[in-house]
Amino acid sequence: MQVLVLGAGQLARMMSLASAPLNIKVIAYDVGSETIVHPLTQTKIGEGLANAIDQADVITAEFEHIPHPILDECEASGKLIPSAEAIKCGGDRRMEKALLDRAQVHSAKYHAIKTKEDFTQAIEKIGIPMVLKSALGGYDGKGQWRLKDHSQIDSVWSEMQICIESSDQQAIVAEEFIPFGREVSLVGVRGKNGAIQVYPLAENVHTDGVLSISTAIADNNLQQQAESMFCAVANELDYCGVLALEFFDLDGTLLVNEIAPRVHNSGHWTQQGAETCQFENHLRSVCGIPLGSTKLIRETSMINILGEDSLPEAVFELAGCHVHWYGKQKRAGRKMGHINVCGDYSGELQRKLTKLATILDSTSFPALQPWANKTAD
Ligand code: ATP
Ligand code: MG
Repeated sequence: MQVLVLGAGQLARMMSLASAPLNIKVIAYDVGSETIVHPLTQTKIGEGLANAIDQADVITAEFEHIPHPILDECEASGKLIPSAEAIKCGGDRRMEKALLDRAQVHSAKYHAIKTKEDFTQAIEKIGIPMVLKSALGGYDGKGQWRLKDHSQIDSVWSEMQICIESSDQQAIVAEEFIPFGREVSLVGVRGKNGAIQVYPLAENVHTDGVLSISTAIADNNLQQQAESMFCAVANELDYCGVLALEFFDLDGTLLVNEIAPRVHNSGHWTQQGAETCQFENHLRSVCGIPLGSTKLIRETSMINILGEDSLPEAVFELAGCHVHWYGKQKRAGRKMGHINVCGDYSGELQRKLTKLATILDSTSFPALQPWANKTAD
């Protein structure tokens, strides 16, 4: 079985690592350069989309911002899983909001904006403060504005107007500001036969708009709410593969923030913390193999390594610490890898995180600051 991944980044790489035990081969298509590459070595294997499609038994994607003609061509081959519609919903906030409405799940009130009149209507409908997001192309908090008071309306509009005019398809989605207590996400998988398995929720902390730490949590009330919304969205799309839902936790009630029709950064902890990791489960699903158990096997946190290409030896010496590098060139703020930290018994994970906070510099790993403070106490 040969799986072609649209996108040749770290998610394709980790799918490739999970594929070998299943006797599945993963190749990656770099959408920008139109080349087929090996997802681990980046060695060029071939060229062109038609050639890539030809070589694949199944086609899947590692990101949602894929030009629609590429998705449509893949879908026409009958090999694309999940569907082009599901991937498009993840890449266009207007389609995403319409999907959430159809699935009848809670999300922030919204209004689509193309013109200044739309913006005025959005302010009337939603009120201030308000969050404004580009409909297409946003990731890691990029392409967003915050409207905090009326005096900012003109300056925010002039910036949004440049974004809207950058392409005919572009627009802005205005959203009610949600004063959430924390952010959580649910990663789950739906098989070809409609079977669904979800992982435990992860609590996510973002630093400057980028995920910095993600920890699997046990919370029955939130888990049930998340699972029922996950099923509603996945069933609405007749989805196949791994899907992630990001939520705001507003005093114990979850609202969906956004969806990701793919394996997700907040699911990387499953490599060490779950019976079957998200990458294996995605491959199982798209290849029609029965899904693996999503059971938590030990408490785990995932810490993103941003803009660094080396770590102190002490990290490798710490039992329960697993480093995953992505083989990328160093660049400020870039996701270069992650560390999964595990604890086998009660309190051990917290102790490991406290220890890690003494090893890693808190300017590079701000997510560890709360544990650094614990040591200081
Ligand atoms: P990512 O790629 O990291 O998932 P993104 O660029 O797709 O991010 P969002 O997840 O929609 O964008 O927003 C980034 C962050 O901004 C959220 O994680 C949350 O912290 C904050 N945020 C987004 N929407 C709202 C909202 N309506 N109210 C309050 N905060 C918000
Ligand atoms: Mg997000």
